Amino acid sequence: MPTNTSERNARSQRGVRFGLGFRRFIALAAAFTIVVPLLGGGASVPAKAETLCLFEPCFEADDYSIDEAASLWVVANKQRPLDPIKFVPKNLVQPAFANPSRSNPYRLRVAKPAADALVKMTAAMRKAGFGDLFIQSAYRSYDYQRSVHAGAVSRLGLRAGEALAARPGHSEHQTGLAIDVGAVGQGCLIYTCFGKTKAGRYLAKYAYKYGFIIRYPEGKTAITGYQYEPWHLRYVGPGLATEMRNSGETVFETFWGLEPAPNY
Ligand SMILES: [Zn+2]
Repeated sequence: MPTNTSERNARSQRGVRFGLGFRRFIALAAAFTIVVPLLGGGASVPAKAETLCLFEPCFEADDYSIDEAASLWVVANKQRPLDPIKFVPKNLVQPAFANPSRSNPYRLRVAKPAADALVKMTAAMRKAGFGDLFIQSAYRSYDYQRSVHAGAVSRLGLRAGEALAARPGHSEHQTGLAIDVGAVGQGCLIYTCFGKTKAGRYLAKYAYKYGFIIRYPEGKTAITGYQYEPWHLRYVGPGLATEMRNSGETVFETFWGLEPAPNY
């Protein structure tokens, strides 16, 4: 359910743009064709037709909240702190990698749905010959984020530091759904050149299939508030990631019709 005005506005804008997408139209048409003849002439479209989706992955703009901190789709940025600001996810796990010491050397925790997807994607990427992913950073608590932010600001200054590290309570990492990855032996760890590595190219092309988006795309700092971060993956689920891919919209804020968030 929508929980505030910004969400309602975002939802209504989404509704205008994607209210009856092509896939939905096909699904409804198929449901009508299959179900109505079974019920006999004169039957109406089944009441549940709205929720039918015949083609995976499915997407409905109101599947999850974009305001609730525990939601798969929560939008956290410089204008949208988590609520509560010291939110702690309840579903943190260490991903069940085939080779945990290689893939998660620091034994970091991730929200369960993101962890499972990361395990699958890591295996698929390795099999396809694009190398071995490992987790560089994942869930960060409010207090830990405070030290990450302070460290970045003292190292780089306020402006550059805050283009890289969020203030506590504003970081996606606090939701457990964001993961900074590296690739074994491919260099460019937490540098923009990661986007040009084999692994970076694989992720840009295929991460959506596993439900991840590149949350801070190149050239979108004025909207996201962050520099290009080809290593920062955000789990939103395959339904939404595929919907964004198909729509051509790469920025999470813009997809939901939210205001740009360049500053606090
Ligand atoms: Zn990150």
